[in-house]
Amino acid sequence: MLSEKMLGLGKKRSAIREIFEYGKKRAAEIGADKIFDFSIGNPNVPAPEYLKRVLIALLENSDPACLHSYTSAQGDVGVRKIIANNIYERFGTEVTADNIYITSGAAAALTISIKAMTVPGDEFIVFAPYFPEYIVFVEAAGAKVVVIPPDTEDFQIDIESFEASINKNTKGVIINSPNNPSGVVYSVETINSVCGILSKKEKEFGHSIYLISDEPYRELVYDDIEVPYLMNYYNNTIVSYSYSKSLSIPGERIGYIAVSPKMENTDDMYAAICGAGRALGYVCAPSIFQQAIAKCIDQTSDISIYKKNRDILYEELTKLGYKCAKPDGAFYLFIKALEPNAEAFCTKARKHELLLVAGDGFGCPGYVRISYCVRTDQIEKSLPAFAKLAKEYQ
Ligand code: PLP
Repeated sequence: MLSEKMLGLGKKRSAIREIFEYGKKRAAEIGADKIFDFSIGNPNVPAPEYLKRVLIALLENSDPACLHSYTSAQGDVGVRKIIANNIYERFGTEVTADNIYITSGAAAALTISIKAMTVPGDEFIVFAPYFPEYIVFVEAAGAKVVVIPPDTEDFQIDIESFEASINKNTKGVIINSPNNPSGVVYSVETINSVCGILSKKEKEFGHSIYLISDEPYRELVYDDIEVPYLMNYYNNTIVSYSYSKSLSIPGERIGYIAVSPKMENTDDMYAAICGAGRALGYVCAPSIFQQAIAKCIDQTSDISIYKKNRDILYEELTKLGYKCAKPDGAFYLFIKALEPNAEAFCTKARKHELLLVAGDGFGCPGYVRISYCVRTDQIEKSLPAFAKLAKEYQ
């Protein structure tokens, strides 16, 4: 007998992957230039040229026995020092190499962090709209997910519902800003409210409540928007970081966990993270990419392309009558579907070769995600299709 739960997860692809696979099939049928695939967050902006040179130099000049070998499970200590210094320089937070655990991307950072802190009966709070895999990760660790409904006014956090949902079983809160799928950056005011409530509730229930800040889009912000660094707002914070989007290398699987040095039990939390990594079979993150990110610590791919894409799409779609909160970051636009059923709206969009993802899977029915990490000319070419789709509803 197999695990029903795992069988179910394996048989039913995520809605995003489903549409992405359809897009590949459809592109083969009618040509890639005729299909407007806004389904997946696979960066189209190339990785920096500098990264390519770093990788070539690593391959040519390193001792292969070292370059390809296992590192410490938590990552090479030299690389961890570079990451820790970078955090200190950027945010003034005094983390050290012993607070950093290098992972295979943010997905591993999340699964490891959740596993490290979960005991039976625990609950994790997520804010809709949320990255759908949070549900999978939390449930796989044996905990319960508590969803805070979206505040569709501006896609900040519904603070009252949040406060009301915390109880004695609350172990953690997962927060994601810039947000997938809304593109919204939570304001300093929102963050202060969330952290204030958490501190109050920790006292009330007499135990730690951990804040997991999932930050794969931290570098993808536009117009000088500031993304608050949560360790500076709340002591029991863990950061889940990834280079997938900032360096356009999602397939290379590299990121890290940073544990706040101000957490009450930092060393034990770090040890539990090492234990969870071990239990989940993450032997170490890819060795070449550990070295590569250390040498590219200040690099990003060309973020200005995403800003250009956002500006075109936001301006043109709002002119056509679509409604959405203007995104300050990430590479997603979260529009209100033109009918209550977002799935039905996406099916109609598909007839115009527009591949969009319904908000239902993000905990926000009635909305639709457009992933604009595609070529700018694809966005420009897609506008008549968006216009025809809007016309169907007039
Ligand atoms: N968290 C969020 C909010 C994401 O959007 C993604 C990927 O799209 C991840 C985590 C996983 O990122 P990674 O590729 O680093 O595992």
